[in-house]
Amino acid sequence: MSNPASSNAALATRDLKHLWHPCTQMHDHESVPMVPIVRGEGAWLVDADGRRYLDGISSWWTNLFGHANPRIAAALAEQARTLEHVIFAGFTHAPAIELAEELVRITPPGLDRVFYADNGSAAIEVALKMSFHYWLNQGHGEKTRFIALSGSYHGETLGALSVSDVALYRKTYAPLLLTPFLAPSPDTYEGESGESSEQTAKRRLGELRTLLERHAHETCAVIVEPLVQCAGGMRMYHPSYLTGLRSLCDEFAVHFIADEIAVGFGRTGSLFACEQADITPDFMCLSKGLTGGFLPLSAVLTTTTIYEAFYAEYSAGKAFLHSHSYTGNPLACRVALETLAIFRDEPVLERNRQLALHLARRLEPLRDHPHVADVRQTGMIAAIELVADKASRRPFPADERRGLRVYLHGLQHGVLLRPLGNVVYFMPPYVVTAAEIDLLVDTAIAGIERAVTR
Ligand SMILES: *Cc1c(COP(=O)(O)O)cnc(C)c1O
Repeated sequence: MSNPASSNAALATRDLKHLWHPCTQMHDHESVPMVPIVRGEGAWLVDADGRRYLDGISSWWTNLFGHANPRIAAALAEQARTLEHVIFAGFTHAPAIELAEELVRITPPGLDRVFYADNGSAAIEVALKMSFHYWLNQGHGEKTRFIALSGSYHGETLGALSVSDVALYRKTYAPLLLTPFLAPSPDTYEGESGESSEQTAKRRLGELRTLLERHAHETCAVIVEPLVQCAGGMRMYHPSYLTGLRSLCDEFAVHFIADEIAVGFGRTGSLFACEQADITPDFMCLSKGLTGGFLPLSAVLTTTTIYEAFYAEYSAGKAFLHSHSYTGNPLACRVALETLAIFRDEPVLERNRQLALHLARRLEPLRDHPHVADVRQTGMIAAIELVADKASRRPFPADERRGLRVYLHGLQHGVLLRPLGNVVYFMPPYVVTAAEIDLLVDTAIAGIERAVTR
């Protein structure tokens, strides 16, 4: 702080000279501050000028047990002194083995095989390729298409972006992408008025059935984000959709890919969102919270049935050929194991239930706000839908960037909120306290007041 060369301003200037940041129109930084963070502690981030920010979004939904969590940091340091990395073809190591055992143990029954990759999008690529390749190995090379939900987000590499339906990310690159069949999302917000979330789910399953009747013969899999479509605006839906989807996938012989990259590891109230529908998908993609927010790592879990379709003499040419240099990185696996150990040692889900209740109570008054069309919550994810007109639910035009005003208000008041367009949401680390939730909500409400006035 005393050294001006390491102040916020100095670091921001150097950053903007060479760096190109994700999900950013860099020109914005002519007016929006770049915030250099020097350390983290619990739910807090500290910048180079010593200002603190409460991380209301778990640093892009990754952090579970606090920044620089000492227990996870110690495990990482020990692993770094032992084995930092080794090729994962032909070679293996205890952290990868133990993590696979633990993932098989805690995920829904029947997911017995683990394939590692190094980020969420890569896990989606793996699941899509594996599903296609399974059908090919079974003599069904005509299955080349996928079904995704409207409003879905599965990442931004070309394959993952192909099965995503958020225009902001997809539109520009559409000419490069596969074209999935889109099934209407069971999103409750888009439901018909007077309809319960369960009724919306049922109606949407009917529409999916129609799509499958027409296209199942050419379809490899249906891919969904269980319970919450996160990047699409924290849109939520009833678990019965997942139960119905499981039966439809069985009936029409297509795979069920559950993308739990954002909702896995306790976010929705259960360890995995699929548990709330009591189903086992054919593929489950995990990342983000998997390492407690420390390191990039992803895992695709699948069934013995699928694994066996690839298992043959080398000459049969059935092997799954997909690799990343850092597949099964020991540091990341070790950190993931420590993260899962915290789930075993501490009453995480129970504590989250209390925190989620507190958050719900604090958000309740916003329902009456003239510019709030919806307040919704699933476990440790809560969202507020801002609109220009409450009665008609007419949204604010995107170019008014109301959410950005909430973001800037948050920064000025020591809170990191990063609305998705007109959706202000909370996805705090699980170590947040009730008092910190109060700060998050109070700051968001004040920010919303500023954002909705001209
Ligand atoms: C973040 C996310 C991804 C992509 O993960 P990356 O690690 O950012 O590539 C995929 N699916 C969902 C549901 C996500 O939230």
